[in-house]
Amino acid sequence: MTNSKLTRFGQLCGEAWACTRCPRMTERRAVLGPPNGALAPLVMFIAEAPGRQGADRTRTPFHGDASGANFEKLLHSIALRREEIFITNSVLCSPRKPSGANDKPTRAEISNCSDFLQRQIELIDPPLIATIGAVALDAIKRIEPHDFSLKQHAARILDWNGRKLVPLYHPSPQVVITVRPLEQQIRDFRTLAAAIKGR
Ligand code: SF4
Repeated sequence: MTNSKLTRFGQLCGEAWACTRCPRMTERRAVLGPPNGALAPLVMFIAEAPGRQGADRTRTPFHGDASGANFEKLLHSIALRREEIFITNSVLCSPRKPSGANDKPTRAEISNCSDFLQRQIELIDPPLIATIGAVALDAIKRIEPHDFSLKQHAARILDWNGRKLVPLYHPSPQVVITVRPLEQQIRDFRTLAAAIKGR
């Protein structure tokens, strides 16, 4: 990795930390920095948003809450280490309901943050992207349109924007219980491992 890549990443982090484009997130700090992972990763994960008990608290994406614990089990299942990956989100700040609970990012917020997402992809230039959940799969359409859906394309190795793409389900407890059990997500991660090996 070049010094200039590190410098440009630092500049991008500084811009994101100072960003106030989303009115309800002006008090939140963008989760972007060294804990997001390697700048020359085997795979770049794109998820939905930093969670209240997870990344917004720990400053490490997918760490500190139940979704993070499941994600770490999935990484472990294919012997993938955090030092080998980069993780970011469709929106870099943590969207909250008025009650303080986690909320889904709005379309406007995803649109506001798509420039940061595009710049992260361009800077890190990963050979492989894995989206985590439907929101992330939808968010990358703003960078390069596609017709993929989780229902039809989950755990498939696809071509998108000059690189490989593997859409994955979100490992939140709600998704694990109601939509995609962890055992199935472990099988999905085997496809991801094959995509990494096939680079
Ligand atoms: S979510 Fe993205 S666009 Fe919105 S305030 Fe945070 S960094 Fe800025």
